[in-house]
Amino acid sequence: MKIDGILNSVRDGKLLDKQEAVSLLNVDNTSDDFYKLISLANEMTRSEFNNKGFIFAQIGLNAEPCSVNCKFCSMGKGHYAMDGVWKKDIDAIVSEAKTLIDCGIDDLFLMTTADYPISQFLDVGKRVRDILPDNIRLVANIGDFDYDTALKLKEAGFTGAYHIKRLREGIDTTARPETRIRTLDSIVKAGLELYYCVEPIGPEHTYEEIADEMLRAREYNVGVMAVMRRIPVKDTPLYEKGQISPLELSKIAAVARLVTRPHRAMNVHEPVQMSLICGVNQLYAEVGANPRDDVSNTEQSRGFTVEGVRQMLEDAGYEMNSSAY
Ligand code: SF4
Repeated sequence: MKIDGILNSVRDGKLLDKQEAVSLLNVDNTSDDFYKLISLANEMTRSEFNNKGFIFAQIGLNAEPCSVNCKFCSMGKGHYAMDGVWKKDIDAIVSEAKTLIDCGIDDLFLMTTADYPISQFLDVGKRVRDILPDNIRLVANIGDFDYDTALKLKEAGFTGAYHIKRLREGIDTTARPETRIRTLDSIVKAGLELYYCVEPIGPEHTYEEIADEMLRAREYNVGVMAVMRRIPVKDTPLYEKGQISPLELSKIAAVARLVTRPHRAMNVHEPVQMSLICGVNQLYAEVGANPRDDVSNTEQSRGFTVEGVRQMLEDAGYEMNSSAY
């Protein structure tokens, strides 16, 4: 399939099908077509998102063995690889949220392992919402939940939820794909904003599998789309499989930008500078537990700071919103 023809279809406003998405993913990363692909993704992000850059921040509330036991995660209970076990108290979380707000963020994510009690999570959410300016969105990144819980999250002040059907869900994880999808549906039905991501991408995943998740995100009409590569954490079962390159990740981000057509922002995770000329305009800072790190306070290790990601976005010519810093 000719790449020029597919890119022209995107320019004409046509939504791409799976075969077209796979053709774009198959573009050789050293070819002329690669530059045509990232050029269009970049152009669309700069024009449709008004050249605006976004900083999101995530606090990982607990570092504890998790029963879902994902084979790539440092907190899977069968291979726990973190350097500690802890749960942040509510005052510490509120204080961390304040610091992040003062640094200037657009959206704040609170993440837990799947076994974290929902009642405690709702309490944390309410306390954080109390100190959060109205213009900062509050997003839950937790295990599966039903519609009633989705409504409770909304009532507590959450504006959205990050939730996905992971690549090889049910094979590399013990979660059931149907359960993940039920949660996605509950999020949307409750009127929460759904944040989606193709993750965790490793060298073994096929372009067909990756394209399926881009199309799923489009079906849910997501505002913010993301792609994330798997970080091989030592002592996790998938460690030996390695990781894809920043160049490959940037290409996948460009394709996701064109296939999914998010209406607010496009993210790559973890931050990669070259992705910012491939249609990516949003990055995450991280604090606390992180499934891609074995240091349980990731701000001392893999986690990027708000200042660091702001610098990356500014270096790429994006205009930043916050005047808080
Ligand atoms: S990725 Fe999330 S659900 Fe899976 S083991 Fe880690 S904390 Fe649990």
